[in-house]
Amino acid sequence: MVTTVYTVIGNPLYCHLLFGDVNQRKSGKENIKKMTNKDKPVVEWKKENESYRRKKMVKQIVRDIFFLGQPSEPATKADIQVGKDLQDTLQANRERCVGMAANMIGVKKNIIIVNMGFMDVVMFNPVIVSKRDMYETEEGCLSLDGVRKTTRYQEIEVDYYDFNWKKQRQKLSGWTAQICQHEIDHLSGKII
Ligand SMILES: [Zn+2]
Repeated sequence: MVTTVYTVIGNPLYCHLLFGDVNQRKSGKENIKKMTNKDKPVVEWKKENESYRRKKMVKQIVRDIFFLGQPSEPATKADIQVGKDLQDTLQANRERCVGMAANMIGVKKNIIIVNMGFMDVVMFNPVIVSKRDMYETEEGCLSLDGVRKTTRYQEIEVDYYDFNWKKQRQKLSGWTAQICQHEIDHLSGKII
């Protein structure tokens, strides 16, 4: 029954990992409180947990190079759900992925997600406004096999809109800056 919730994940290993994560995330204060409440049967808690799972939107990773080669369009407030889908899909691919662009889940809008260690940051309409310290490196991509050489900048400043549609400016360096540059390249149809 549970497997039908995630329409897109074909790999049983990832299904397993994903369910583990969901349970972990859902094992916070809220559930502990409900589980220890003797007035509430355990069955009811399970039902609530199931409905939580159904809300998650894990999307299939696009590997169609023709599709990925097309530029994306500006995002609007109406695209907030796409940002949430990116959060769920990155969470489901945590083992092999540190960032994604919306076209990788089939939506040609300027939206990316970047893992910054302890959290994932969704950026709507991200634009790199400054960059410095160029270097050569190699990168892989969830939508490609193998690695490719590319040029990146050690430090960047990026403007974007957050989930509340407030404009943000963030300085990034090193690994997070690299992920961000990789994902922003996806928006113009560039795959590494
Ligand atoms: Zn990529």
